[in-house]
Amino acid sequence: MALVVRPSPIHSVGVYTNTPIRKGTRIVEYAGERITPEEADRRYDGVSRTYLYGLEDGKTVIDGEGLGAYLNHSCDPNCEVDEVKGRVWLYAIRNIAAGEELVWDYNLYDDDDPAPCHCGSPKCRGTMYSREWMAKMRRQARKKSQQRKTVKKRKRQPAPV
Ligand SMILES: [Zn+2]
Repeated sequence: MALVVRPSPIHSVGVYTNTPIRKGTRIVEYAGERITPEEADRRYDGVSRTYLYGLEDGKTVIDGEGLGAYLNHSCDPNCEVDEVKGRVWLYAIRNIAAGEELVWDYNLYDDDDPAPCHCGSPKCRGTMYSREWMAKMRRQARKKSQQRKTVKKRKRQPAPV
C-alpha cells in the first residue's frame, strides 16, 4: 500500500492510494497529540478548520497530524474510522482501486459554524455534520423560536390599568 497526498477536488489536498486496497484493510492511524476537550476549545477558539477527533470516552480529543488526519470528508465514503483500545484507525469499507482518493464521513458535532460539504456525491447531505447533530441543532432552533413566540405574546398583553 502506498499513500500519497495530492490536490483534491473535494478540498485542498487529499490522500490517495497508488495500489488497490481490499475491503477491511487497516489503512492508517489517525495519530496526534491527545488533549482534553477543554484544551481543544482553547486552542482552536474561532478556528473553523481543525483536525480534532473525539474519542468514545468523551474526555480525550486527538489533535490530528500526519496522513491519517489529512483524509477528506465524503458523504459516500470508502473508509471508516474505528477506535481500538484507545487508538483510532481508518479502515477500507469496500475494495478501493488504485488512484482513488481515500475519504470517510467526518460526522462533525459540537459546533454551529457552517461546515458545507463539497464531496460531489449524489448522496451528499450538504454538510459535514452528522445527521444526529443536525437533528439536535434543529430541535434547539425550534425550542428557541418557541421561546421567542412566548415573549412576543407577553408583549401583546394589555398595559395594566
Ligand atoms: Zn457531501
